[in-house]
Amino acid sequence: MISFADIQYRYTVEEYLEKLEMPRRIEVKSMFEVSNLALDMTRRYERASDPLPEIWIRSTLTPNGEAMPGRIYLSEGLINTCLDISLPPDCHSTLELPNNLMLPLPQFALTFCLVHEYMHISRKHNECSIEIGDSQRFSLATEYDADLCSTAVIYRLAQQFYKDSASDRDVRTITLFAILWVTLALPQSDLATTHSSTAERIFSTYTKVCSLTQRLGAPPDPSCAGPECRQVAEYMPQVLLRLAKLHADLHLEKGRILKQILAGFVPGPQRFEAAEAWEEIREIVVAVSEKPKD
Ligand SMILES: [Zn+2]
Repeated sequence: MISFADIQYRYTVEEYLEKLEMPRRIEVKSMFEVSNLALDMTRRYERASDPLPEIWIRSTLTPNGEAMPGRIYLSEGLINTCLDISLPPDCHSTLELPNNLMLPLPQFALTFCLVHEYMHISRKHNECSIEIGDSQRFSLATEYDADLCSTAVIYRLAQQFYKDSASDRDVRTITLFAILWVTLALPQSDLATTHSSTAERIFSTYTKVCSLTQRLGAPPDPSCAGPECRQVAEYMPQVLLRLAKLHADLHLEKGRILKQILAGFVPGPQRFEAAEAWEEIREIVVAVSEKPKD
């Protein structure tokens, strides 16, 4: 028998906003405004002909998202997780960011999650699963793909957002900050079956942020061999260490989290499973989705 607690309701974004109290409504509205901007930007960049998917909110309190052709579901729990992300005290000085720089982490966090779901649709992961066959390895690979594509979008969004107020180094720092914070805020047990470990997700986000080139449309430089990304790869380890320290100070889990993140740098037998799984199917996904590889 289904109890009342198990019944799920779903809302359009407008209906969902209506039922929120102030000031939460304003905050969530602004999160969706930024996310929609990023979705529009992504669609224009991809020259996609399909309309943007509909966005629905489920009343479930477990943070999750789901994508299917033409539709994305986000749970209320996911929105709450993004909204409740707290900014650590002294984060500007620790990260060496200009004091007056706005850091709308909930906006960037929700955008990362929504664009991640959009990428499952846009990269036609559903169609690829028919061609390749669905398996845990396929799921790891496509989650990895969606994460990395979404990371590139957050970087482009941050470039726009801070175009007159921050350096490229600041933009990369904030991109990594926002994605790392939401990744660490999500409950790990629910993700364990489909996503790779938190350490691996952070490590792959980190390497992606290092490999992106400033000019839109220019190919990424995964081995950081060119002068631009070589320079980025020189300062980004410091940024990651500062972020790890900030997170440890905030959550008082110094040893565990810091160790988990740094462990991502040491290749182990299982460490890069998602990256390997992705390499096996990347040509097929790129061919099926006919999308740029950035
Ligand atoms: Zn996903």
